[in-house]
Amino acid sequence: MNAKRTEKPNRTARPLRYLAAALALLFAVFSLCGCDTAEKTETFTAMDTVMTLTVYGGGSAVKDAEALILELEKKLSVTDENSEIHRLNESGSLELDPDTAVLVSRALSLCAETDGALDITIYPVVRAWGFTTGDCRVPTGEELASLLPLVDFGAVRISGNTVTLPEGAMLDLGAVAKGYASDCAAALLREKGVESAILNLGGNVYALGSKPDGSAWRVGVADPFGEGGTYSLVLSVTDMAVVTSGGYQRFFEQDGVIYRHIIDPATGRPVDNGLASVTIVCEEGLKADALSTALYVMGYEKAVEYWKKHGGFDAVFILNDGSIHITEGLESCLASASGGQTPEIIKK
Ligand code: ADP
Ligand code: MG
Repeated sequence: MNAKRTEKPNRTARPLRYLAAALALLFAVFSLCGCDTAEKTETFTAMDTVMTLTVYGGGSAVKDAEALILELEKKLSVTDENSEIHRLNESGSLELDPDTAVLVSRALSLCAETDGALDITIYPVVRAWGFTTGDCRVPTGEELASLLPLVDFGAVRISGNTVTLPEGAMLDLGAVAKGYASDCAAALLREKGVESAILNLGGNVYALGSKPDGSAWRVGVADPFGEGGTYSLVLSVTDMAVVTSGGYQRFFEQDGVIYRHIIDPATGRPVDNGLASVTIVCEEGLKADALSTALYVMGYEKAVEYWKKHGGFDAVFILNDGSIHITEGLESCLASASGGQTPEIIKK
């Protein structure tokens, strides 16, 4: 009798145990195969802009990516007195964190490749215009002439992780930091098993993988003449950085003249060459960010020559006359263009 009584509850518990084990197994399989596709979005301010990270799956990975970007900002900011870059600019020579040293070295290579259209030693001039402090003003010709000799990326020395600047020279990584941060965030997300994410670091977009349904991400290229939130065209991309530089984003006006935040290192003056914006599409955010600034400085004709000579990326050029020009690799990525305007295809 006793034995029978103890058998009964065991028989009813067994199916429950099987069910619990089956559910645990299912959960483990889901976690391992990355089937957690829940959407997580974080919006925050960093590097002087609003960033939005949208990540599918990866548990808390989106939070980790945000923390990583905020950490990078602390190291790379030119205005934060505790940042590595600020301390280097103050002291003239500093041993940097190995990752920062690699970034500086890679950025210097891109300065050389673009023949100084990108020049990360631009800071004395950028500061004189007040773009980073918000205290914008038009420097005199003499002031610019005295600062221009300090703008010379070729004079920066790197030995191990120690960077040394000539007397008075100062680095500004503002033209490459967001692109670099997008690469770092994407690498961290991939490490955590994320296969689908769209990272928007204030117009520096990185499309990781594809959408959760397997289709390509659609990334809009902002209309430089629009109110904001309007696009000149939309590109379908996977595993690509899409980065835009344009004078329409940050500028100030004095006596009816508009002064934009991207400086031609040859003159020390804001770029004004007929280009409204340049968008670069390539696999590396850092390169896309560097080239979008550099090709904007070069102007349309030189930028097209640069693309023909170097390749390895695609570009969208929007001119002040409203015309849109895209390099041939983007023809197949073009999802839509606003106002039915067909962009001109630039062939090699
Ligand atoms: P944004 O930061 O607005 O996305 P960019 O990537 O083009 O735009 O970077 C512009 C920033 O880079 C400027 O705010 C300034 O700090 C710095 N800068 C301006 N002109 C140059 C230049 N010719 N080379 C390198 N850095 C530049
Ligand atoms: Mg840039």
